[in-house]
Amino acid sequence: MRRATFALLTAALVLALAGSARAQAARELPEAVGRYVKVNAPLVALTGVQVVDGTGNAPLANATIVIRDGVIEAVGVDVDIPAGAEVLNLTGHTVIPGIVGLHDHTFYTTAGRRIQATETAPKLYLGSGVTTIRTTGSYHPYSELNLKRAVDAGELPGPRVHVTGPYLTGGVSSYMTIVNDPEEARRVVGYWADEGATWFKVYTRISRAELAAVIDEAHRRGLKVTGHICSVSFREAVELGIDNLEHGLFTNSDYAADKQPDECPQNLTASLLDVDLDGPEVQATFRDMIDHDVAMTSTVAIYETFVPNRPPLDQRMLDLMAPEAREEYLATRAEIAATADSSAWPELFERAQAYERAFVAAGGLLAAGVDPTGIGGALAGLGDQRNLELLVEAGFTPVEAIQIMTANGAKVLGEYDRYGSIEPGKLAELVVIDGDPVARPAEIRNVTLVFKDGLGYDAPKLVESTKGIVGIR
Ligand SMILES: [Zn+2]
Repeated sequence: MRRATFALLTAALVLALAGSARAQAARELPEAVGRYVKVNAPLVALTGVQVVDGTGNAPLANATIVIRDGVIEAVGVDVDIPAGAEVLNLTGHTVIPGIVGLHDHTFYTTAGRRIQATETAPKLYLGSGVTTIRTTGSYHPYSELNLKRAVDAGELPGPRVHVTGPYLTGGVSSYMTIVNDPEEARRVVGYWADEGATWFKVYTRISRAELAAVIDEAHRRGLKVTGHICSVSFREAVELGIDNLEHGLFTNSDYAADKQPDECPQNLTASLLDVDLDGPEVQATFRDMIDHDVAMTSTVAIYETFVPNRPPLDQRMLDLMAPEAREEYLATRAEIAATADSSAWPELFERAQAYERAFVAAGGLLAAGVDPTGIGGALAGLGDQRNLELLVEAGFTPVEAIQIMTANGAKVLGEYDRYGSIEPGKLAELVVIDGDPVARPAEIRNVTLVFKDGLGYDAPKLVESTKGIVGIR
């Protein structure tokens, strides 16, 4: 008995020594990062994996990916494993590029709260496989600028952050920045550009003159503009030079018959339910967007929560929520369920999915994001994963849907030469999934490891660390 224990201890010691020999090459990490890191070696080989590379290529079975100093050195089925590599045999796993979330706020809302989720959002995003976010409307812009600095400096675990600055809108608002003349718009854009914003987000009540000023000032500084608009229609915004349009059909006032200039039409929803999706009006929007290289951002995960009894309740999500946020979400969900017989949302949602499918069929660039707002049922990261299932439901193949969520997002950000696909020379931003999200899209939830900045993060540990506090911190 004693001898057996001794033998076990010896084995443990040998393993520990082997570990420390490897650890000599590992980077030293601050505790806040190191506690979530599982793989910390300059040279890593992932073997036996299915690779969905994000380019739209068919999946590659039983492949090897070699990562050196945070960059993809090789990927394929006939790849030699370099001497000294830390080898992870990942048979049964799929690797996709890091998700690029284009509508990924760091705040969270229910019907009763709006909170800055500085503690939970970065961990939920990274732990769900989202390696880049564009915040697309900020509630606390300085929280996001500080988060970005800390992540870039390696002080905190989190996705790469593209900060958009505050929402810019016209009329009246409680927390957005109101710009009611072009000079004001230019001043605000200049201020946030100097502070580090790289995109701007305009909102529903902005008028054409202010939008033109925002776009002109941003472009003059090499920055870009996206919008959740209404007073200005999609085609008008394209004409003014906007770079990206959020939410697709749900927010397009192109089809409202009584649309007055610079006013959000009363009958927006009716017009969306009425417009012929195969007709010339829709094609005119698509043509304008495509001819001017204006991308569309799909945020189906948030809009699904307005459809009665959707999504199916996800225990994983309920467990992460703080009790008060969970109560608020479930109460609103029940109110929505009570409207099931009369709600226009099932039809509107289906039409919006068809609209996105038709936009891509016409040659448009579609990317995706979660938008963790509304009634609180689309959480940071988890909702980005849910987008895969909803894009597949819309009619995209799983490979196309993964391309939308990864490569296309990087293209919209102008960063596709650096990341967004699994190809030699690109940054190794990789999501390791236990299972096969091509055969069974819901398995994208089973993220085990996320590679970013040369580190392999323990994805479940990141997500677990937010348990019970999502919605309050
Ligand atoms: Zn939003």
